Amino acid sequence: LEQEMARLDRLNLVGEMAAAIGHEVRNPMTTVRGFLQLLGEKAGCMLYKDYFNLMIDELDRANSIITQFLSLAKDKPVDKNEQNLNTIINTIFPLIQADVYKSDKYVNLELNDIPDLFLDDNEIRQLILNLVRNGLEAMQSDGILTIRTYADADKVVLAVQDQGCGIEAGVVDKLGTPFFTTKDNGTGLGLAVCYSIADRHNSKIVIETAPTGTTFYVQFPCSGEIATLSSQ
Ligand code: ADP
Ligand code: MG
Repeated sequence: LEQEMARLDRLNLVGEMAAAIGHEVRNPMTTVRGFLQLLGEKAGCMLYKDYFNLMIDELDRANSIITQFLSLAKDKPVDKNEQNLNTIINTIFPLIQADVYKSDKYVNLELNDIPDLFLDDNEIRQLILNLVRNGLEAMQSDGILTIRTYADADKVVLAVQDQGCGIEAGVVDKLGTPFFTTKDNGTGLGLAVCYSIADRHNSKIVIETAPTGTTFYVQFPCSGEIATLSSQ
């Protein structure tokens, strides 16, 4: 037990250090990004403009990895407000559409009437985007990805369903382990972040998978949380 505690302490320390470094590294990155953008606009030829855009894209990718990593912190502060999941989905829909633009993949929304929940909208946006991107990546060339919301007894459910390759039984158990990926250029942080965010919203993630596709269900408790908060 003592050994286990020491291991957890070390893990916590590593986590805290990673978070601190992540924050600090971001500031210089923002400066570099600003100057790259400026230089890119002034660049004389298209080739150079392309190079600058490439550099900015890579910097944005690095930044998004830091964001994901920071979201893993157990004690990350959350900023919950009473709001509707459907509104959040509608806000990020253009971003999702941009992902499938110029492909034969389609994204379908089926948003039903659901009660408001206490949500951290930044986190929920991240959660949905991570699930949607995985779903899209699981579909080779074409297919339909459906984002569905509905009320079910005392829960509000978000379902992200793809027509992708499915997940092998041996892989399912490893999902959510930080850095676990089966992709060549994957980070393996997406689902770990989803579990962490779900945890901070007292929600449960359930997976249904077959060779014809996968559905991720995120179940938010509704009555309980809103009832307790509004009676205070
Ligand atoms: P990454 O996408 O960077 O690999 P994630 O944590 O988002 O990391 O996902 C981890 C792994 O889970 C993926 O590499 C993939 O094998 C599997 N996975 C996640 N979502 C799906 C999905 N919708 N369909 C099939 N496999 C999936
Ligand atoms: Mg992913």
